[in-house]
Amino acid sequence: MNIKDNVQKILKEIPERIILLCATKGRKVEEIEEAIEGGIKFIGENYVQEAEEKFLKIGKKVKWHMIGHLQRNKVKKAIEIFDMIETVDSFKLAKEIDKEAKKRNIVYPILIEINSGRELQKSGVLPEDAEKLIYDIAELENVRIEGLMTMGPVVKNPEDIRPYFKLTKELFEEFKKLNLPNTELKYLSMGMTDTWKIAVEEGANIIRIGTGIFGPRRGG
Ligand SMILES: *Cc1c(COP(=O)(O)O)cnc(C)c1O
Repeated sequence: MNIKDNVQKILKEIPERIILLCATKGRKVEEIEEAIEGGIKFIGENYVQEAEEKFLKIGKKVKWHMIGHLQRNKVKKAIEIFDMIETVDSFKLAKEIDKEAKKRNIVYPILIEINSGRELQKSGVLPEDAEKLIYDIAELENVRIEGLMTMGPVVKNPEDIRPYFKLTKELFEEFKKLNLPNTELKYLSMGMTDTWKIAVEEGANIIRIGTGIFGPRRGG
């Protein structure tokens, strides 16, 4: 199957309210254009520089989401390219985004990344630290918290990821009840090629798919 068919197949399987975000790290502009022809409206990139090169060619006909770990010194560039940063996991990073957004007189949408597997080497805020982080970030007037994102651990059996998605959904519902300022929790970004069906069952409304659209990544 080609890229366009893969996109259309997934789009047919998901309810319209769910955003199919195409994870495009390592993929060529021509491949991404094919996905866009298939109906992709959201692109997810992991690196600012790689995104910038593609953004110059593809432009604003799609929405751009940052889904990789973001360094503070890349924030200025990142908010020029991306419509949303899904991977905010510290107050320092949120403050930098707030600062740059203030300069541009905009309110910038972010998701908080939850380290739902509590894995040491992974980014994301630990579930038990997330509430404090959200309270702090909610004070920043030029960022708006629009939801949560999680990766979860790498699992052999897709079903094994369910508890991590459940946990993230629970936090999402809890935080909604806090009625914080500068906060409108509406997006839950969870699920990749092998796990998106489970994520949708657990309440995701953004799913991030790479391999399922483009095939295996070259070089691993
Ligand atoms: C690469 C990536 C995906 C997509 O993974 P696939 O298994 O290729 O579908 C989703 N989310 C993030 C953060 C990624 O880096």
